[in-house]
Amino acid sequence: MKDRGNITDLEAEVIYNGLCCYCGTCGAFCKEYITYENELPVTKKKCYEICGACYDFCPRRSFAPFAVERAVFGDIRSDNLLGYYRGIFTSRATEDDIRDRSQDGGFVSALLTFMLARGDIDAAVVTKATADWEPEPFIATSRADIIAAAGSKYTQCPAVEGVGDAIEGGYRSIAFVGLPCHIQGMRKVQLSKQFNVHGDRVKILIGLFCTETFETSRLRDKLMEQGVALGDVEKFNIKKGSFIVHTRAGKVLKIPIKKMRDCVREACTYCYDFAAEFADISVGSIGSEPGWSTVILRSESSEELVRSAREEGVIELKELPEERVEEVRKLASYKKHENLKNILARSEPVRVANMELEPELLDKFLLL
Ligand SMILES: Cc1cc2nc3c(=O)[nH]c(=O)nc-3n(C[C@H](O)[C@H](O)[C@H](O)COP(=O)(O)OP(=O)(O)OC[C@H]3O[C@@H](n4cnc5c(N)ncnc54)[C@H](O)[C@@H]3O)c2cc1C
Ligand code: SF4
Ligand code: SF4
Ligand code: SF4
Repeated sequence: MKDRGNITDLEAEVIYNGLCCYCGTCGAFCKEYITYENELPVTKKKCYEICGACYDFCPRRSFAPFAVERAVFGDIRSDNLLGYYRGIFTSRATEDDIRDRSQDGGFVSALLTFMLARGDIDAAVVTKATADWEPEPFIATSRADIIAAAGSKYTQCPAVEGVGDAIEGGYRSIAFVGLPCHIQGMRKVQLSKQFNVHGDRVKILIGLFCTETFETSRLRDKLMEQGVALGDVEKFNIKKGSFIVHTRAGKVLKIPIKKMRDCVREACTYCYDFAAEFADISVGSIGSEPGWSTVILRSESSEELVRSAREEGVIELKELPEERVEEVRKLASYKKHENLKNILARSEPVRVANMELEPELLDKFLLL
């Protein structure tokens, strides 16, 4: 594997190879050359440099799960499906205005407002939707900003670009909320040995569980077939095998998730991370009662933070019973198994010492 390259190499290996998840990490720190169009990176002008930051940061070019776990958590996972963690809880915001605007229990927004009020952070990089449901990275610096960006957008935006903007804007203590692929990109930035773009100013990474995202243009067409324009949508949700669309006029449309397959971003079919395994805190709905969020605490600092938020009355927090944790594992396992087939179908033989083997046959050859 090459260890240096530029955006042209990324185009060949990742972008035109169906692997780009549109995370925004490549362009976040190179505004001169890289921008985003039609949900992919594009070059503004030909780059003859080989500084290689874009290539080094891209989580879809390479990602080393165990090395990241050792560096961030000090140990590697004992749970292959959910990653390294210290505890799994169910939680919700105590304040009504947050719960009303949030996707599930409002844990994410409540924690961000808590950190902002306490002075732990001076900005939170979140994802806000336009009136036409185009998601955009957004630098929130007030409680109202955070609440305005609450709720899940099931399409994608280059959220890590927002981190680049926040660092450029002089913010020094930043919280970032992103999907598992965004979190992987941010970890590569923070752990890069070659480039220092002040990724250490991002003090906490909050990851959302993720099965897949849809391409905006395909989602728009799919909803139009059902007579709903994106601009008419109040809220999206995914529950019990259905993609649920609530319109501003009060209509509720339920589309079986299987019928949404043709809207899924190709890169998501090669993704093995459901539970935002490399975040400080991961949050989703599966496993919790309606109106509550499932919360996985991974880093040591996240435990102290969440305990303080509970003590200050910002959130309610209860341990998630083991049978509910099993529901989270089941969904993570489903994603890993489905997508592993796609990943292996594209894999080249791996070299282990002097052996050259197909990755799916590695255990057959090496284990007794
Ligand atoms: C694309 C997507 C797929 C998901 N898939 C699952 C799933 O399969 N199973 C499951 O249990 N949970 C899934 N979730 C997580 C779930 O929908 C909630 O986001 C989570 O439970 C947090 O709820 P909350 O009420 O605490 O968040 P809120 O308080 O509503 O805050 C949500 C935060 O997420 C940010 N955000 C919203 N959309 C995006 C986006 N597209 N990219 C980056 N940041 C975003 C917002 O800016 C906000 O800061 C998914 C979320 C997304 C966005
Ligand atoms: S200048 Fe560096 S980061 Fe920017 S496109 Fe070229 S190689 Fe990539
Ligand atoms: S860094 Fe992200 S947006 Fe850029 S090429 Fe890689 S996957 Fe795509
Ligand atoms: S499935 Fe993976 S690649 Fe696709 S949006 Fe979710 S985390 Fe990113």
